[in-house]
Amino acid sequence: MLSIVSTPIGNLGDITLRALDILKTCDAIVCEDTRVTGQLLKLLNLPKKELISCHGYSDEGKVAMVINRLKDGQNLVLVSDAGTPGISDPGFAIVSKARESNIAIQVIPGASAFLAALSASGLPINQFVYLGFLPLKKGRQTLLKSFVEEERTIVFYESVHRIEKTLHELADALKDQPQRPVVVARELTKMHETVVATTVEQLPGIAASITQKGEFVVVVGPVR
Ligand code: SAM
Repeated sequence: MLSIVSTPIGNLGDITLRALDILKTCDAIVCEDTRVTGQLLKLLNLPKKELISCHGYSDEGKVAMVINRLKDGQNLVLVSDAGTPGISDPGFAIVSKARESNIAIQVIPGASAFLAALSASGLPINQFVYLGFLPLKKGRQTLLKSFVEEERTIVFYESVHRIEKTLHELADALKDQPQRPVVVARELTKMHETVVATTVEQLPGIAASITQKGEFVVVVGPVR
């Protein structure tokens, strides 16, 4: 059986009871960075487990090895460094190969940064578009310009290294919609969590105020 397990995005208290149970009883854990997952087990007072680092299709041999072990009847857990495996993280290769191989799969849902940001945003979220990380070069400007006509809420991830530049580019792409709402969520579930609800015209000021490190989710309200 393959168990896909979400882990906290910052606050350890967000681990679920099912996740704890499965992490305790599995044969091994397939993860991104063995140090990150090893530390998670330690902080949760869980027993040490065999940790298999696997980064998806770039690790073809590892994916095949994991699938063989599942075929042999082992109970393996798939996690990523934080949040839900496969959401802007490795996981897809193993889950799709496991499906192709008719291996039993169960999912243990939990935290994901974009869901936390959406629900905290106060923006309409009956429909939304999740974009993961924006492309760095090819297609980036076209994508940003497409926001002008997007009638659903848009949500994407950004790193601390690029957040300032991205907010400036977003302000530029939407300059004809100065009142369009934008929410910048930082360090969700952590000690320095901040959720700033603002508008396109305020974005340059918000960008200039970001000096601390952190992880970011940006939510853009729908065009009216
Ligand atoms: N699999 C994860 C999930 O389910 O949310 C996402 C992994 S992705 C590699 C990491 C990005 O998610 C970060 O760069 C940041 O944009 C966002 N992120 C993760 N944790 C966050 C947090 N606590 N607060 C805000 N954004 C976060």
